[in-house]
Amino acid sequence: MKKLILLSSLLINCFTSTAQEVETLKDHVYFLADDAMKGRGTGSKEVKKAAKYIKKHFKMFGLLPKGERGYEQDFEAIVRKVIVKDSIRSAKNIIGFLDNDAERTIVIGAHYDHIGEGKQGSSRDSTSYGVIHNGADDNASGVAGLLELARYFTQNNEEEPFNFLFIAFGAEELGLLGSKYFVANPTIPLSNIHFMLNMDMIGRLNKERGVSVIGYGTSPEFEPIFNQIDKSQHVKFYTGYEGRGGSDQTSFYIKDIPVLFFHTGGHEDYHKPTDDPNKVDYESLKGIIELEKEVILNSFQFPVMQFRNTDPEE
Ligand SMILES: [Zn+2]
Repeated sequence: MKKLILLSSLLINCFTSTAQEVETLKDHVYFLADDAMKGRGTGSKEVKKAAKYIKKHFKMFGLLPKGERGYEQDFEAIVRKVIVKDSIRSAKNIIGFLDNDAERTIVIGAHYDHIGEGKQGSSRDSTSYGVIHNGADDNASGVAGLLELARYFTQNNEEEPFNFLFIAFGAEELGLLGSKYFVANPTIPLSNIHFMLNMDMIGRLNKERGVSVIGYGTSPEFEPIFNQIDKSQHVKFYTGYEGRGGSDQTSFYIKDIPVLFFHTGGHEDYHKPTDDPNKVDYESLKGIIELEKEVILNSFQFPVMQFRNTDPEE
């Protein structure tokens, strides 16, 4: 009986913590993709609020500041406009470091900017100029993943054989500007990066198709890493070979760093004002993060991962 009580309380605990994690993911997405954030356009006071939110969490998790000004790495972003003149806006990456006293570092990233009210970046709806584009899937979902992985690796009471660098990128929607700036002005040596994991739009899992994991070909080590995954325990996934693709991992791939890009795919609300928090599948979002954790843990067996160029030969 005692055993049974113990077991059931364990189960309840387990259930509670998973349920709590799902609630926390929801809180992140609802905060970042609220109308009050006005679509997190680069240079807006609302995107600065989003940066502050991320910084607050990095600090709470005990990550070390690893930008150039505390957690921040500032850069200028050119906003190209069709109707009025181009303008220069200030933008920033938010960077936190988990120091495990290791030689090499795993980089985990997600962009936190979006296209504001459709006047910068690319709205796919010509009638929505001036309307708030919340960007819940793109990419509040990825930032929620970033914060959850930062929480997990700082609070699991284990010292992993790798350090972790968590980066929330600015100005992705204007052409991967934050990640391009980071690799040109890295705050850790690029040669010490084990691999880079990027999350951009992980909130709309199609359970039949699965989550796509792009960049599988960028290191021969990804094959054993993924072969060891018990597929019955995880959300469905499929791999894509290429290192290049329309998000921030591309900037790292170009610098000969193995990359993985998690992405649940395009949908009818993509870059439209209707990309809202109530359309995100939070259970699956949690499932994708669990899959990422296993990939990261499996990568520990390789002290160094080889880079492989996946560009088609000319
Ligand atoms: Zn995006």
